[in-house]
Amino acid sequence: MSELTWDEIAATGLKPDKAKALFRAYHQRFEFAPPLKVEKAEGEANVEKVRFRLADGLAIEAVFMDHGPDKKFVCVSSQVGCPIGCRFCATGQMGFKRNLTVSEIISQVYHFAGKQKITNLVFMGMGEPFLNYDRVLKAVTLLNSELGQNIASRKIVVSTVGIVTGIRQFAGERQKLKLAWSLAAPSDELRQRLVPYPALPTIEETIKAITAYQQKTKQRVTIEYVLLKGVNDSEADLHELDRLARQIDSHINLIEYNPSPGLSFAPGDTDRARLALKKLKANVTVRRSLGKTITAGCGQLATQPD
Ligand code: SF4
Repeated sequence: MSELTWDEIAATGLKPDKAKALFRAYHQRFEFAPPLKVEKAEGEANVEKVRFRLADGLAIEAVFMDHGPDKKFVCVSSQVGCPIGCRFCATGQMGFKRNLTVSEIISQVYHFAGKQKITNLVFMGMGEPFLNYDRVLKAVTLLNSELGQNIASRKIVVSTVGIVTGIRQFAGERQKLKLAWSLAAPSDELRQRLVPYPALPTIEETIKAITAYQQKTKQRVTIEYVLLKGVNDSEADLHELDRLARQIDSHINLIEYNPSPGLSFAPGDTDRARLALKKLKANVTVRRSLGKTITAGCGQLATQPD
């Protein structure tokens, strides 16, 4: 959005006190930032990853995924880097730089919306959305609005590693947005090793917050579980995952791990894990990441120099 100057407001002919009040209200209410600059765009079948350069020189990435007619997804970033620091995630290894502004969040979607109608949003790009709660929710409100991109709220998923304060606030939102919980490990001990965020609430605390959220919203929650070979994919791990999933109204989504340079994890066998969970009568699917060859898969977004 280009900035309206004092001279332009004064030229409307409003009386000086009215013009000043309008100028103040306008500048308090809107955020001015130059649009994102596309630095690099890479594509493969049905996927496009774009690196955007921000006004302060930092960079973020967002991914467009074409899953067929009326299924045009954008995976949106909410922060530059991420303070959570998951050991298996390329973004987590960048460290945390800063929160994105509302305009930087919505501009990612507007970039892809220039070519097609965007139908679905997933806040699973760079960053933990609930650590930039107010701006993410403002961006969602604008993108959901008929005057924005008119994306249905039930097609907007916000994924959290389990930030309880965010889950509680999310429960009170007017729009019925979808919540995903990125669990990573079925025990607190393993989870603390994989997700080394000092303020990470325990699994029990997160389940309590999700239960309260569900009592209010009646929304099913997706449990995202990235399968890491020899780390969180044993029979015992899957049993425990199933036990936790049954404590809330949920659906388990097994995520294929996408190796990233410098990270020593290997992908687990998602087909075997799915069958094991099916035997336990779990509600489970596998999410196969698109865009692996352009490092656009889950956990691969990062903006280190090539
Ligand atoms: S997996 Fe998500 S929460 Fe964890 S470091 Fe990566 S971006 Fe942050």
